Amino acid sequence: MKRLTNRVALVTSSTRGIGLACAKRLAAEGALVYLAARSEEAALNVIRSVQEDGGRAKFVYFNAREPETYSAMIEAAVQNEGRLDILVNNYGGTDVRLDHNVTEGDTEAFFRVLEDNVRSVYLSAKAAIPHMEKGGGGSIVNISSVGSVVPDLSRTAYAVSKTAVNALTQCIAVQYAHRKIRCNAVLPGLTATRAALDNMSDSFRSSFLKHVPLGRIAAPEDIAAAAAFFAGDDASYITGTLLEVAGGFALPTPMYGDLMEGRFPNYL
Ligand code: NAP
Repeated sequence: MKRLTNRVALVTSSTRGIGLACAKRLAAEGALVYLAARSEEAALNVIRSVQEDGGRAKFVYFNAREPETYSAMIEAAVQNEGRLDILVNNYGGTDVRLDHNVTEGDTEAFFRVLEDNVRSVYLSAKAAIPHMEKGGGGSIVNISSVGSVVPDLSRTAYAVSKTAVNALTQCIAVQYAHRKIRCNAVLPGLTATRAALDNMSDSFRSSFLKHVPLGRIAAPEDIAAAAAFFAGDDASYITGTLLEVAGGFALPTPMYGDLMEGRFPNYL
């Protein structure tokens, strides 16, 4: 049975990667999905593919570099449909050329990434919540990162910004639970999207995978499945949750990779 029939959803940055997978999954579950994107052409390709699969999707303009488009995209969807039930805040990222450790990282870029990623949740939630309240409730799903809970040697701005997204997720959850608005975050591990693959050498990837118990990089669909779960009524008693979808990354003993390679045969 489709879990999101008659729901109106909006997914930011849904022309590729995790956002695209979320949009397709929500549409497959029966929701009418607004693709909030900066390229109408790219969104139209997605709409065609959603329609071929029997789903419904529409385009609304959104560009994270134009902050006024956060409220404009929400207002446009609500004006057309009369309601908004599901908001997936997927937009986010960093500039790996500038986002290093604290001493070597670019200071301006640090604060730019912080603002960019936090704003992407704050402004859209601010615009959507009053409409969700009027509609009797809703579900906000924020795409954070496992990097928000596992400190790294680099990408400081990214980690700090996603940690702030986690905090914002839980503030929204607590502040609007009495209005039947739930807010949860999905924390993806390394996921096979252009953003991740472009920034990573093959040797880094295979070394990284030694520390992922499930032994593979996530597919965008793995992340979308968690987002769809939070969006629907199966999660009606779940709010403020930060769910790692990371194949068990950083869960085992720090010696996991060495042990699995059999470097200490008498240990197991
Ligand atoms: P991706 O594959 O690179 O896709 C990026 C999306 O963002 C595209 O749809 C792109 O649209 C859009 N975008 C870029 N700049 C934009 C702007 N200024 N305004 C509006 N849209 C813009 O990225 P992804 O890997 O799926 O990442 C999605 C989310 O998952 C991010 O929040 C990221 O931090 C998080 N995440 C990813 C991973 C991973 O390993 N991939 C891991 C943890 C968390 P165009 O088609 O117009 O370029």
